[in-house]
Amino acid sequence: RARCEGPNNVRLCTAEMNRQVMDRLRLEGELRAAVERREFTVHFQPKVDVAEGRATGVEALVRWQRPGGRLEPPGAFIPMLEKTGLIVPAGRWVLEEACRRMMEWRRRGLPPLALSVNLSGRQFAARNLVEMVADCLQATGFPPGELVLEVTETMAIRNLEANLQVFNRLRGLGVRIALDDFGKEYSSFGYLKQLPVDELKIDRAFLANVPADREGAAILRAMVAMAHALNLKITAEGVETGEQWAFLKEVGCDEAQGFLFGHPEPPEALEAVLVRSAAPPGEPSAAPAGKAPLH
Ligand code: C2E
Ligand code: MG
Ligand code: MG
Ligand code: MG
Repeated sequence: RARCEGPNNVRLCTAEMNRQVMDRLRLEGELRAAVERREFTVHFQPKVDVAEGRATGVEALVRWQRPGGRLEPPGAFIPMLEKTGLIVPAGRWVLEEACRRMMEWRRRGLPPLALSVNLSGRQFAARNLVEMVADCLQATGFPPGELVLEVTETMAIRNLEANLQVFNRLRGLGVRIALDDFGKEYSSFGYLKQLPVDELKIDRAFLANVPADREGAAILRAMVAMAHALNLKITAEGVETGEQWAFLKEVGCDEAQGFLFGHPEPPEALEAVLVRSAAPPGEPSAAPAGKAPLH
């Protein structure tokens, strides 16, 4: 950036800006094609009940399979999908695809799991979000009461008035709402009173150095108490160590997600894990990722 400053560097700066604009235009073009050709795929990460030590749900996390190229993580393309509005058709595809997979697993006799799907602010602003969700549930047969829609705290609070209505209409369908990345920006406890939500997902930054980090541990403990006092379910994100898991058990956190139990995996890989954990008792059942502290 420094080389963009000063009158002598104006041309360099312009070249750099041109390159950035070209990169963005190319990405936008590629993403338009990706939406049309359905180059996206949904990975699933298990969500574990802390008290029972078993998977009770999954979170759907989108990936972009570039034709003949890399599998891109959401950070590489969600911002552009949002900027262009392409997140509306892409997000619809993700929800439908995730519901379809879940129903397929159910039909094959795998234990029924809840499904969490992320929504972006742009989808909320779209007029027909509630209809879209209702259509999707109807088309796939996925039970509304087992669908959790995740919205970030930041997004929920921006446009609070308009969002309140949408939240209420979604809950009218029987769908649950989770506040994702809670505490990442505001930790706005005051809003929790107003927001019709069912679940808090604590941003993984809070857990990062727990239990060694005494203040972090104290905050987490207080968040669990607060969530329960407000009748909210509380989920910890980013559980990577046995110590973090033990801490969450001790403070009574409801659910947990993280590499300790499983990375986001393509459906086939997650299915293999589910089949193993659905094996009749007595049979050796491998824990997800081979190291999850189940039981
Ligand atoms: P998120 O909803 O908070 O999802 C959790 C992210 O944390 C995922 O990253 C997941 O892979 C990662 N993660 C899970 N466990 C651990 C752990 O133990 N340690 C660490 N370090 N990370 C962990 P991912 O898949 O890259 O997704 C990033 C974000 O992209 C998501 O954050 C979500 O905000 C967004 N996203 C993903 N899929 C969708 C989608 O279909 N629609 C929308 N609008 N956003 C999506
Ligand atoms: Mg999420
Ligand atoms: Mg999150
Ligand atoms: Mg996040």
